[in-house]
Amino acid sequence: MIAAVTTFAIGLLTALVGHGTGAAASAGHPGWERSLRGGGESAHADSKRPRAAAPHRKRAAPPPRTSRDLVHTTAAGGRSVALTLDDGPHPVWTPKVLDLLKRQHVKATFCLIGPNAQRYPALVKRIVAEGHRLCDHTVSHDETMDHKSVGYQQRQILEAQRMIDKASGGARVHYYRAPGGAFTPDSRRIAAAHGMRPLGWTADPGDWQRPGTAAIVARAKQQLKPGAVLLLHDGGGDRAESYAALEQLIPWLKGRNYTFAFPES
Ligand SMILES: [Zn+2]
Repeated sequence: MIAAVTTFAIGLLTALVGHGTGAAASAGHPGWERSLRGGGESAHADSKRPRAAAPHRKRAAPPPRTSRDLVHTTAAGGRSVALTLDDGPHPVWTPKVLDLLKRQHVKATFCLIGPNAQRYPALVKRIVAEGHRLCDHTVSHDETMDHKSVGYQQRQILEAQRMIDKASGGARVHYYRAPGGAFTPDSRRIAAAHGMRPLGWTADPGDWQRPGTAAIVARAKQQLKPGAVLLLHDGGGDRAESYAALEQLIPWLKGRNYTFAFPES
């Protein structure tokens, strides 16, 4: 059975890689992948995803079902929001955010930079142990990676996944988020082929620029709506404003009868 699954997986991988080579030509459209709501080519492209050869299908596990389409909504739908926290883990801010989420009984998704995960494995384990989800946010946080080779993008994604995997002790990494939203069709395909759903966002209050807590909160309130995926940061510098904003936003959302959910995976 294991041999059959392995053979199947290799077959599928080969098929996917072959498919991707053909799609590479469309990777050069600057900007369109960055659109918050983008996801342009959508389910259409996925319907053409090649399947493994028939002889393997009967006995093997079902093919990986992770979609390569960018997620822009919560899995729960309805009046829910997904909190996503990028660029950690950070030795100061990630524990504070985790404490806050625990006090508030809220789950979130943490988009980790590979070397940060490698440096703070205890924080990665804590994220998982407290019921949150992991997201791969690459090795180098190169916001121009959408203009680089497919091989480079693949290394950025898979090396980070390996680092996160090692730090967590093998917990699932549910999502992949490109730094600065620099997704490409190839990077989304690579992530999906490794079980990671490309993760976008719909609410971005620009907290990484440190505009002040009040501005972060006001922008977030304006952008949040049912099913929203909120982008905030727990790493990449002094995140005092982001933390203070989150401290205000969680009770505000609860007061408006929102629940908290993970993004669609
Ligand atoms: Zn980031």
